[in-house]
Amino acid sequence: MDKLSILGAGPAGLSAAINLAKANYEVNIFEKNRSVGGRFNGDFQGLENWSENIDTLKKMKNMNIDNNFESYPFSKLTISNGTQKWDFLCNKPAFYLVKRGSVDGSLDQGLKEQALNLGIDIHFGETIPENQVDIIATGPDPAEIFAAAKGIVFKTNMENVAIGLVNDNAAVKGYSYLLVANGHGCMCTVSFDRFKNLNKCFYETKNLFSSLIDLDIQKPHNTGGIGSFSRRTIYNKEKMLYVGEAAGFQDILWGFGIKTAITSGFLAARSIIDNEDYRKKVKDCFDKKFKASIVNRFLWEKFGIKNYSFIVDRIHNAKDPLKYLNSFHNYNILQKLIYPFALRYMQKRYDNIRL
Ligand SMILES: Cc1cc2nc3c(=O)[nH]c(=O)nc-3n(C[C@H](O)[C@H](O)[C@H](O)COP(=O)(O)OP(=O)(O)OC[C@H]3O[C@@H](n4cnc5c(N)ncnc54)[C@H](O)[C@@H]3O)c2cc1C
Repeated sequence: MDKLSILGAGPAGLSAAINLAKANYEVNIFEKNRSVGGRFNGDFQGLENWSENIDTLKKMKNMNIDNNFESYPFSKLTISNGTQKWDFLCNKPAFYLVKRGSVDGSLDQGLKEQALNLGIDIHFGETIPENQVDIIATGPDPAEIFAAAKGIVFKTNMENVAIGLVNDNAAVKGYSYLLVANGHGCMCTVSFDRFKNLNKCFYETKNLFSSLIDLDIQKPHNTGGIGSFSRRTIYNKEKMLYVGEAAGFQDILWGFGIKTAITSGFLAARSIIDNEDYRKKVKDCFDKKFKASIVNRFLWEKFGIKNYSFIVDRIHNAKDPLKYLNSFHNYNILQKLIYPFALRYMQKRYDNIRL
């Protein structure tokens, strides 16, 4: 059997590699950076736990990904728009916080360890042309930015906390977040429009958070990045399979891309192992999810009046907020009706969103 090659050692590439190696394929990964998670800096990110009924860590286990990284379940969180505050206590974790980057205990380090234990060769600091690999897992394409983030990672004596801030001065059409677990903190703004205001937004984010909570920020360092969403038809160009954000697979509502990256890596591996059509697998798994996320972004922007209180009120008043959120990820009848308008609306801003 020929040795398979993968470009990029992010969650998507490593998930594909781990699944291929478990099926006895030999795998080479080429990673341009000297370590995994090179575009992150120890930031906290959330493995969201509402878009599907299955628990996210269990779903990862089902895709042969072990939980050998630090993960902090959060069922308690607060949302504020700067003037109002909503406290949520969910009946299961709303998300698991994981660290990203090359730091100890991060998701990236955990996936790397799993890959190395299976004998996968990771060539750090090396890249090869795309047309010489089997799977392309190179992350977001700067030509297709739909979201941009700026923030800091820091040490702290604060209690564990998760606060989301929805305020267009702090994050244009997006949100800011303050996440603290185990003496480690992360504060970021994520804007979905007017990216040139990102510095101003982060300044306002800090101001608003300091009015909500006593901040203790020690040894801060910068972080940030971009997100790509496209629905380009690049699932299968020549013989290469595109996975994760390299394929534009993302949630355009809030930018939760880790689970999608890991799932698409798994699907690419399965399509090679079972000699099945990757395009079909991806379509079956993600099509409705992506369409729902286009509608959700449209609704978020249209109904975000009065600093999102209309939307957050609805989620807060639901008997089971996570179940309510889940209902927006299944491309329900209402979403099907709204989709053509939502797509047209979004295409005006992102011309790469096409069928
Ligand atoms: C600030 C920020 C916060 C986020 N928060 C969340 C969150 O809370 N929850 C969530 O689910 N998602 C979040 N995301 C999105 C999530 O990080 C991404 O969707 C996910 O990392 C995508 O995984 P990937 O494997 O496709 O790409 P990446 O993680 O970007 O990995 C791609 C890898 O390929 C390498 N590479 C690139 N080009 C080449 C090349 N030519 N040759 C070799 N190697 C190459 C890169 O160095 C990188 O290691 C966030 C993103 C940002 C920017």
